[in-house]
Amino acid sequence: MGHNYNVDGKTGICGLIGDPVEHTLSPVIHNSLNELLEKNSVYVPFHVKNEGLEAAVKGAYELNITGMNVTVPHKNAVCQLVTELDPAAEGIGAVNTLVRDEIKHGYRGFNTDMPGLLRAITSDGISVAGNTVIIIGAGGASKAVAYMCMQEQAEAIYVLNRTPEKAQEIAGHMNALFGENRMHALPLSAYRQFCPDESEDNRQAYIVFQCTSIGLSPNNDLTAIDDPEFYRCVKIGIDLIYNPANTRFMRYVKEAGGQAYNGLKMLLYQGIIAYEYWNDCKVSEEIAQEVYSRLYESVYPPSDNLVLIGFMGSGKTTIGRILEREYGYTMLDTDAYIEQTAGKTIKEIFDHDGEDCFRKIETEVLQKLITDTHHAVISTGGGMPLRPENARLLRQLGHVCYLRADEKTIWNRVKHDTSRPLLLCENPRERIHSLMEERDPLYQKASHAQIIVDRKKPEKLAQEIKNQVLSCKEDKV
Ligand code: NAP
Repeated sequence: MGHNYNVDGKTGICGLIGDPVEHTLSPVIHNSLNELLEKNSVYVPFHVKNEGLEAAVKGAYELNITGMNVTVPHKNAVCQLVTELDPAAEGIGAVNTLVRDEIKHGYRGFNTDMPGLLRAITSDGISVAGNTVIIIGAGGASKAVAYMCMQEQAEAIYVLNRTPEKAQEIAGHMNALFGENRMHALPLSAYRQFCPDESEDNRQAYIVFQCTSIGLSPNNDLTAIDDPEFYRCVKIGIDLIYNPANTRFMRYVKEAGGQAYNGLKMLLYQGIIAYEYWNDCKVSEEIAQEVYSRLYESVYPPSDNLVLIGFMGSGKTTIGRILEREYGYTMLDTDAYIEQTAGKTIKEIFDHDGEDCFRKIETEVLQKLITDTHHAVISTGGGMPLRPENARLLRQLGHVCYLRADEKTIWNRVKHDTSRPLLLCENPRERIHSLMEERDPLYQKASHAQIIVDRKKPEKLAQEIKNQVLSCKEDKV
């Protein structure tokens, strides 16, 4: 990761105990937070076996360790070793976060999976309140989901599992805990009762959480309910799995017209909430997004797409076409793509729906391209990196190269072009000046590398960009 830890006598330690711990992503979350928030603390994974759990928790306290995450297989057993349990940890029967308790000389036990999932879905504008929810799976993760749905007032919750007794155990436990009868257990095969019939009453009626381990990489083409009919009842589908990024479950949901999300944000926010307990702070959404980008880049292999950004007239389309012809990329122009899908020109979208609406469409297009494109050269609209979210998505989409031009070059190239909505004003030259001043820092922030295009032939630039991609790849090896 290239972090530079300056460990000194005051450095605090947090960590993770589990078996195994080699593949954990938690250090990316916590050490990024330490770096971004300038906290003199490090996060270290500790491999602890079942028989050593008690000694490890006691030893951690004596070593002055601030807090620990707890993962498989210790999440249940550690409940017996804490000074007290927070209500969610008690209700779920699992602790994933230990917070130092100086008064009682030990650690308090928290469950941040549950509020982590809640913060993740809330950040995507999803609320289970008043909705009917289907939970597929009845293992450890589904208990946290079940608790969240009860607490957040889902109207009815159906837990479907291959082993129905485990679903019954969760439903019975949650109904007793909350003193209500909103949760119902069913065998997995009972999914058919939710499939919309001719009346279509169930069409996109439910929020569905996929909590089984089926579909986890490398079994990317498997899912617990392998029947497209079922997915017609799904309004929103959330897969707790985050590797692969786009699971078979998510693809079914999207193909049936619903919205789908993976579990990476849940992972992010359970970590952030643990960090907030340990450091008695509140992590802003801006920092959370930066950590999310780093997490994303460390989980998913870098894409081999090439993304060209820059001001109108900087040569994105021309250079993109040469890269397509010479180096076998598939050329894709986001503006053309939007016009084709919307059935309107960019100018018409600006005129009828406004610039904000256009920028939102751009975000949706990026999200789609991230899952659907490989080895493409993507030429983007000049305003694409204006939304911070788009800047992050662009970097996820592929290697981002900023084609940097001076004002004179741009003016000479666009002065006779009447198709650019932003230049249809009294003083287009002045407009170019102010737009370039505003956008240059945003282009720089969104890009992995830049290239100066003034007075250079497009063929030469295409070659330079290709070399740049190759040398970036070598740097990463
Ligand atoms: P778990 O306790 O082992 O539970 C596994 C679940 O999958 C059970 O319901 C099990 O059904 C079901 N299952 C496994 N193989 C099956 C098969 N062949 N057919 C039908 N059902 C099958 O695991 P967990 O801890 O709950 O984790 C589940 C998944 O959630 C993991 O893959 C993990 O990636 C993900 N997760 C993500 C986060 C996050 O932060 N995003 C957090 C926790 C977990 P039976 O009961 O019938 O065996």
